[in-house]
Amino acid sequence: PFNFSAGPAMLPAEVMQQARDEFLNWNDLGISVMEISHRDPAFIRLAEQAEQDLRDLMAIPDHYKVLFMHGGGRGQFSAVPQNIAATDATVDYLNCGIWSDFAIREAQKYVRHVNVVGAAVQTDQGKAISHPDSWQLSEHAAYFHYCPNETVDGIAVHEIPQVNAPIVADMSSNILSEPLDVSKFGVIYAGAQKNIGPSGFAISIVREDLLGHAQTNTSTIMDYTVQAKEGSMYNTPNTFAWYLSALVFQWLKRQGGVTAIGELNRAKAAKLYHYIDQSDFYSNPVHPDYRSRMNIPFLLADSSLDNAFLEQAAAAGLVGLKGHRFVGGMRASIYNAMPMAGVDALVEFMAEFERKV
Ligand code: PLP
Repeated sequence: PFNFSAGPAMLPAEVMQQARDEFLNWNDLGISVMEISHRDPAFIRLAEQAEQDLRDLMAIPDHYKVLFMHGGGRGQFSAVPQNIAATDATVDYLNCGIWSDFAIREAQKYVRHVNVVGAAVQTDQGKAISHPDSWQLSEHAAYFHYCPNETVDGIAVHEIPQVNAPIVADMSSNILSEPLDVSKFGVIYAGAQKNIGPSGFAISIVREDLLGHAQTNTSTIMDYTVQAKEGSMYNTPNTFAWYLSALVFQWLKRQGGVTAIGELNRAKAAKLYHYIDQSDFYSNPVHPDYRSRMNIPFLLADSSLDNAFLEQAAAAGLVGLKGHRFVGGMRASIYNAMPMAGVDALVEFMAEFERKV
């Protein structure tokens, strides 16, 4: 089946096959990669190679640390303020949607002044983000946080905001989906379970000058400075997630890296939006300039057909299409591992369903 789930999401078939083949005997050691010590030279080599591959893929400058963290995306919602803002600091958040909102609420626990600079707005052409000229930026924010791809709402901010404070981006659902200028950011973080690997794992890319400022009460496993010093092995890391992520990075390199996958992602999204837009039966609620290329929500003209749509889609091998419980409708998540054939199959099914009703 093609899995359109927003996450945990489909991993590349090649990666899953390789993981299956070496599950009980990794690296000819006779045991699983899950069972060897994270201090074993073979695992250290894997970990270092994974970091190098990610650095190559994203062209991460040398003055950034790459951290392999615990606790998924939400873990970073609290790690960010604790690590790079003092308790009495002011921090700026752009509220792009549901995940931004969760990040804001978490930051409020650790920082006194959480200033929401702008938010999602309804326009004639659908949902959008308030124009940068209207943002109420603070004069001395410790950082500016935004979520360039709101997974639930299907809203994306395609331009990197121009602000003075270090930019922190929650890229949980769009990391590695297209080329990116990492040097424009202070921190990039992502829960792994969309474009990288298993859930519960996270990657943080942190500019070095932002290290060394953690709040005194920061829990040690969430402390960027400690994890940077310890090679992300302050405590036992999630070695199996690290291994699968390493395989995904190698797979992505074989696909031609983020430039090639970015072109494919654009083509996949364009095809699906084009089909939705020309149909009177399906609609997408987002302004064309703010549409996500990873998560494409759509509504049926008659919502009483939602269950029939989902059941018949699943029977046709198209699973995970139910929209988030907060917004309803449908959502097709088309991360890196989704081939064009999956989008073709979905469009074909949607056309057939529309014809039949
Ligand atoms: N941020 C974004 C943009 C997400 O899509 C998600 C989950 O889907 C999260 C954060 C939370 O990630 P996790 O469930 O790993 O904590």
